[in-house]
This record gives sequence, structure tokens and C-alpha cells, in this order.
Amino acid sequence: MIDLRSDTVTRPTDEMRAAMARAEVGDDVYGEDPTVLRLEERVAGLFGHEAALFTPTGSMANVLAVRSLVGAGQEVLCEASAHIARAELGAHGAYTGLTMRTWIHPRGQVDLPTIRSIFAPDMGPFFVPTAAISVENTHNFAGGAVLPLPDLRDLREYATGVGASVHMDGARIWNAHVATGTALTEYGAVADVLAVCLSKGLGAPVGSLMVGSADAIDEARVWRKRMGGGMRQVGILAAAGLHALDHHVERLADDHAHARLLAEACGVDPATVDTNIVVVQRADAPQLVAAARDAGVLVSAVGPTAVRLVTHLDVSRGDAERAASVLGRL
Ligand SMILES: *Cc1c(COP(=O)(O)O)cnc(C)c1O
Repeated sequence: MIDLRSDTVTRPTDEMRAAMARAEVGDDVYGEDPTVLRLEERVAGLFGHEAALFTPTGSMANVLAVRSLVGAGQEVLCEASAHIARAELGAHGAYTGLTMRTWIHPRGQVDLPTIRSIFAPDMGPFFVPTAAISVENTHNFAGGAVLPLPDLRDLREYATGVGASVHMDGARIWNAHVATGTALTEYGAVADVLAVCLSKGLGAPVGSLMVGSADAIDEARVWRKRMGGGMRQVGILAAAGLHALDHHVERLADDHAHARLLAEACGVDPATVDTNIVVVQRADAPQLVAAARDAGVLVSAVGPTAVRLVTHLDVSRGDAERAASVLGRL
């Protein structure tokens, strides 16, 4: 089977497993796991921020990151198909007590005129005040779309002007970095706080990080424990992340080339494929998923008329060519 359902399905390579087996560990709730500390320091540095916090999932990193900016009874603005709004099972409302309002963009982009029109300043006990604006880069449900740096800079400037903070869901920020050549520090500079995943295209089995100021991370450390996310000798997992940062970032370019190959075979405009995700519009999405499975290719329906293909570390050039021929035929 060639599995194109998600880039989360990768299995750790032999080299990654060896790095995990060698990891120096300690009790991370005591702040004594040297490998976790090394990962947190490295990732904070990559984005030009003071500190970072290792979390079991990207969803937890997002909940911690957004709640560092937005309190109970305040709101965060985001795009309507953002992961924080659509795929975290209401965690931000359930844990933080915040609300969300959304703008719609078919490519998940920053729409500054709409953001301006829905932004709510604090006017006292009448309206929910907007505390933060959240962006997702790359945007998952918009097909791995990259958010261009100039748009992010305009958003940063606007947000600072109105006293709002900026959160970036950078689960796939590595793909944006490799696809555009934009430095990670440039992305870091436009956000007060980010969440980044090691478990997607980077191929680690587990792990994400919240990135931000030292104060925000200190507070998030308390909330992580409160939510049941305090982990012990977790350097074994952090070692997988460090290995991924050393060996699996630049190769994301291969995944992007494989995605373009699939797009061409499926008649999808390659101009809409920025990174490793291809969305195919089909009236009969569930039937296509079933027929592809029968032909040895796993893909997922992400709506009644949308099928998603995701390339990753465990899809070779040969796999991509074989999948392209199967999907092209179907
Ligand atoms: C995968 C993903 C996350 C985090 O997902 P977890 O499964 O909780 O690790 C967050 N944001 C985006 C855009 C994602 O694709």
C-alpha cells in the first residue's frame, strides 16, 4: 500500500531509532532531561525566540500557545478552516474559555481587509474583545498553501497597531521554509508565539513545540502539567526530533516535487500545489477513496467532494510515480 492519507503516518527510520536509543534522559517534569532541553533551546533559536516547550501533540502546543495570548471571554480571529477552529475538537473553548470568529479564504490566506472589519477593540462590558489573530502556515485544509511573508508582515504591523497578538500554527512551517527559502527567523519575527510539529513531514513519531517568550513558556509549562502533558524521560522522543531537524528538513523538497507529480496526473493545477498536499475536487470523493484503496493507494476524503493526497518521508519517487499512474487512471 502507498499511504498518501497524511504525513503523520511516517515511521521512524533506523537512524532515527538509533538516535532515540542513544538519548541521554532525565525527568523532564523536574527540568532534568538534557535531550529535551537541547531540543527546546534549538527550536527556540531557529525561530529567534527566547524559549520553547516540548509537547506530546501539535494540538496541545496550539492550545497552550493561543491561551498564552487570549484569556477566557476574549476571542481569537482565524481563517474558517484553520486547524485550531476545525480539528482540535473545541479544545480552545473547552480549556481556555475563549471564542473564535473567522474569515474565509479558499487558500487559507491572510485577508487583512476582512480582519480589519471584524477586529473588535476592548469596549468594556458590551462586546468580546479580540486579543489575537491566528494564521496557519502552511495551511492544511487549504492544500498545504504557503502564507507569503509580505502578507504576514502586514498582519504583524496591523496587529501591533491595534494592540493584538499574533499566533502562528506552524505545524508545517518547515515545508513553507523549504518551498520558499524564507528563513525560519523571518516567520518567527511575525508571531508572538508559534506551535510547530516534528510529527508531520519531519518524520518523528511524536512531538511538537510551543515557541515564544520565556515568560509565556514558563506559564505554558504549568498549564501543560495541568492538562496532563508533563512527561518524564521523554528525551527518547526529543532525540527523534533533533535527528529530524538534522536530516529531514531539506529533503522536504522531494515531497514537494512528488506532490506536483501527483497534481499533474490528477489534472490539478500545479500552481495550487505549494508544498506536500494536493486536494482533488471530485463529486464522488468517497468512491474515489475506495477505488484507490482497491488499487493499492490510500487517500482520504476531507469533505464530500474533496480528496486529499499528502506526500512524505515514506513515499519514494517510485511510489509517487506508481500512485500518480493509479490516480490518473481513476
Ligand atoms: C497536524 C496539525 C496540528 C497538530 O495536530 P496533532 O495531531 O495534535 O499533533 C496542528 N495544526 C495543523 C495545521 C496540523 O496540520
